[in-house]
Amino acid sequence: MPDFDLADLTEFLRIPSISTLPDHASDCRRAASWLMDRFKRVGCPVVRLLEGDGHPVVWAESPRVEGRPTVLCYGHYDVQPVDPLDEWISPPFEPAVRDGKLYARGAVDDKGQVFTLLKAYESVLDSHGKPPLNVHFIIEGEEECGGQVIFDLLRDQPERTMVDAVLVADMGYYAPGIPAVYTGLRGICYAEIHLRTLQRDLHSGTYGGVAPNAIETMVRLLADLKTRSGRIAIPRLYKSVIPPTKTERKAWKRLPFKKRQFLEEEVTGRALTGLKGFSVLERTWALPTFELHGIRGGFTGEGAKTVIPAQAVAKVSLRLVPGHSYAKAGKLLTRAVKKAAPSYADVEVKLLHGGDPVLCDVTHPAFQVLDQAFKSVVGRTPVPVRAGGSIPVVPSLQQGGAPVLLTGIGLPDDGLHSPNEKVNLQQISDGIQVFGRFFKVFSGRS
Ligand SMILES: [Zn+2]
Repeated sequence: MPDFDLADLTEFLRIPSISTLPDHASDCRRAASWLMDRFKRVGCPVVRLLEGDGHPVVWAESPRVEGRPTVLCYGHYDVQPVDPLDEWISPPFEPAVRDGKLYARGAVDDKGQVFTLLKAYESVLDSHGKPPLNVHFIIEGEEECGGQVIFDLLRDQPERTMVDAVLVADMGYYAPGIPAVYTGLRGICYAEIHLRTLQRDLHSGTYGGVAPNAIETMVRLLADLKTRSGRIAIPRLYKSVIPPTKTERKAWKRLPFKKRQFLEEEVTGRALTGLKGFSVLERTWALPTFELHGIRGGFTGEGAKTVIPAQAVAKVSLRLVPGHSYAKAGKLLTRAVKKAAPSYADVEVKLLHGGDPVLCDVTHPAFQVLDQAFKSVVGRTPVPVRAGGSIPVVPSLQQGGAPVLLTGIGLPDDGLHSPNEKVNLQQISDGIQVFGRFFKVFSGRS
């Protein structure tokens, strides 16, 4: 039996708060209300629903303790869609425990972690319901759907981030038994390239040999943007890259990493591609990428149609690393595409969405407190790692100048965003103790 209130967590997980599906808007509100109720139950005198154009942010503040530091805790109550539904062993919104693991959508990303923060806070309250420090909670409902509510809120009210430390519990361990703290996240610049060579599709018999083909022009253009050795041929893209520090590189070398297993079990291909002379971790954490996600145009139906397509669309993205910005990368990409296009093609780059990369300086004393907390509960300090993915809200959380501690209790095999997402009950229970310990030790600092 777990040493925390499992029924309480399963109640939260039962709410299908899928933020990207309009049909679930009222469920997102239910998840927000559930949280508000819990913050009230643990005695937070300030509990608010902060509205914007989308799903609301839940804000809560502990009773004010003068002369003590303030920690802002971030998490999200929304979840990813559940398809393919038939691959779930138990239904995604009927939490089920099997073999010490709790299976449900949101079990680890991120409701389980929000629950961990809440219970950690509860565990440090004294007999009068007073915490040893000030804790503020900012729990959003649009992390999985790219909404604007929290961005608008923090742009208009940056003072909410003027605290002594920000604790983001939306990440995971490097490996079982090895907790992690994240020193960097990649950003993203997602775009569509629209290309036209003719006013209309043409017959490939009558005009083949003279008419410019939009798909051929598109694939040549795309091939021009990346060399065969994996180097992105967008001028000035590598120039501003801030390379990992010596300390980071050293720490990465010490991480247990099995290339063959990574290739066979995770990548599931026959070879790893990409820039030579850089480790896999450096390629996935500290270097930019240029990926092609899809090409549309011409004829792709059953059978044959001899057409010379007049237009083509490609969906592409750049993953950005520290030193880059989304705005600048969008300009560099646009310029490179225009330059690579032949004069007979009309080409347009539409930027769909993006986020800046993140660099966290883990030398701030708050990180020593986190080290200590993990050490005392799980027996080892977190390893410094980076993540190849993005959490676009982090730069907004950094604007108050406080250190942002990116950490969490997930495990690599938790299957977030996939069918049969789970969390190990032991991880939740350890997490409650780790964050509780963090609150206690941090309260002695200001
Ligand atoms: Zn998440």
